[in-house]
Amino acid sequence: MKKLEEYITSIPDFPEKGIIFRDVTSVLQDADGFRLAVDSYMKMLEGVEFDVVVGIEARGFIFGATLAYLLHKPFIPARKPGKLPRETVSMEYELEYGTDSIELHADAVTPGQRVVLVDDLIATGGTVEAVAKLVERLGGKVVKIVFLMELAGLAGRQRLSGYDIDSAIIYEGK
Ligand code: AMP
Repeated sequence: MKKLEEYITSIPDFPEKGIIFRDVTSVLQDADGFRLAVDSYMKMLEGVEFDVVVGIEARGFIFGATLAYLLHKPFIPARKPGKLPRETVSMEYELEYGTDSIELHADAVTPGQRVVLVDDLIATGGTVEAVAKLVERLGGKVVKIVFLMELAGLAGRQRLSGYDIDSAIIYEGK
């Protein structure tokens, strides 16, 4: 039986020089790999009491929606700007060069709801921090944040020190 790590492909210098891209499509395209990945997330959510799953565009949708289905919870997509058709709330965050923003439907999370955030990977933590702030702006409480992969060298965990974060695989570098 292969380990989850062995299903992940690392592509040097993609999408630009100096970045090692950690590709989950090679996990997804193998039925055993996909199951192993979902099982890893499920393990991280054991004992967590929550009401809603928020998945971050785009790879967070794949795993977030699967987890929401398996645990019979609602699924909320956190989307890039201009994609959600109804009233939204929006948060800008810093990239290495410039800024980006992320949106939720304004009625997606209601006050007091306990929310789990799901993405495939945490690098600097900027994206997930913006989503956490949006959830809080809507009155929700982020009770757990789960990733398949963490790039520890980029210190996302330190940036999100107030949150309960878990990753299935931790890469020491960037
Ligand atoms: P950050 O906001 O810096 O934590 O970046 C996280 C987002 O960028 C996630 O949605 C990741 O899917 C993507 N990402 C950042 N770095 C990488 C990487 N080295 N390989 C794959 N995806 C990455």
